[in-house]
Amino acid sequence: MAKDLVTDRTAICTDWDCGMKYYWYRLFDGTGIVPLEEPSYYKDGRDFASTLEEARTEGFDLDEWMVRQEEEVRRLLPLGKIRAAESAVRLLGMICAYKLYTEPRILQQYEIIALEQELILDGDQFVSNYEREFGKPQIPLGFGERGLYNLLVASTPDLIKMDRDTGALVYQDDKSTANASNQWTAHWNYAVQLHIGLAAMEEEYRDKTLGYAHIMGMRKGQVSYGALAHPYVYANRTPKGEWRRKGYKGCEKMLTIEYPGGVRAWVEHLGSEVAQEMFPWSVPVFLNKRLVYNMIVERTIRMAEIERWGRLEPDDRQILAPGVFPKSLNQCYPSMGSVCPYLQACHNATVGDDPLGSELYGVRTPHHNVEILMNQEVENG
Ligand code: SF4
Repeated sequence: MAKDLVTDRTAICTDWDCGMKYYWYRLFDGTGIVPLEEPSYYKDGRDFASTLEEARTEGFDLDEWMVRQEEEVRRLLPLGKIRAAESAVRLLGMICAYKLYTEPRILQQYEIIALEQELILDGDQFVSNYEREFGKPQIPLGFGERGLYNLLVASTPDLIKMDRDTGALVYQDDKSTANASNQWTAHWNYAVQLHIGLAAMEEEYRDKTLGYAHIMGMRKGQVSYGALAHPYVYANRTPKGEWRRKGYKGCEKMLTIEYPGGVRAWVEHLGSEVAQEMFPWSVPVFLNKRLVYNMIVERTIRMAEIERWGRLEPDDRQILAPGVFPKSLNQCYPSMGSVCPYLQACHNATVGDDPLGSELYGVRTPHHNVEILMNQEVENG
């Protein structure tokens, strides 16, 4: 019987970035390790995602949530935590704009089928169907993997929707973004996560028509001249006491919680056009079966290599680790973008010898159900 190998979009992309990063993130100490102090962009992204998930559930009370969130902002300000306060105001404005303008548009066009439903793409099944549809194997599996391993790829779309006109299923993920250029909207055509998600959704909902996938962007703004430039974070009060989005010399820059009526009134003042700017959409992405097929073949070979390495004696594992988990040293400290979270684990010998003992890293908690189940099976022998 084929052995199941479990992976997901984040694991795939991490391994593509750097083999060593994959080792730290997914394998070290059993389930991997993560930095204990989360970079602010990770935390902001998680806050966005979890609050949006809460805001989509039945019974969510926007006004009540906004009061709580505003209290949090007012608690942070006297502590001088201005960056955290700006992030909290941005979240206030974005969730408010989503509920007032974006969600009603989504619901007008689509019926929501599922929120955060985990989907599993069965690699063997996909490969067999593909080869049946397109004839003989397009790419023969090497190293005898075929039949020995089956790749299971987990993905969790933020929303599964059904188009009310066509009845087709649509896969939606949300992503915070600094910009919404044409390149940003178009680059999703090649994002493997969307194609994996579409293939898994087709497998899960066989009685439904497969539509497309798309990304809802969430504009996060950027720090400029020491302040977070974002239309829902700051407003400008003129010397005459009028409030404007764009200021001029003599205007006072104020957090939007100070606007008469608070953030909600400010979001309404800016209206639906600004909300549309804040939630840009990617191009619709249609399932590219060839891309998924190639990815499954490539990942099966790679995951089988890692699985075989995991069965070696400890000394052999150590000797072979540099080859199995090559370090992409050009990713450690890039001139632009984020520094690798495992920089200390790789480049500080003391931390590298005992990352958990260094108190810079903690054990990662798996979040995909399929990974949790597989780990339990391993633990139970
Ligand atoms: S620090 Fe460099 S080598 Fe180490 S995991 Fe990060 S990118 Fe890879």
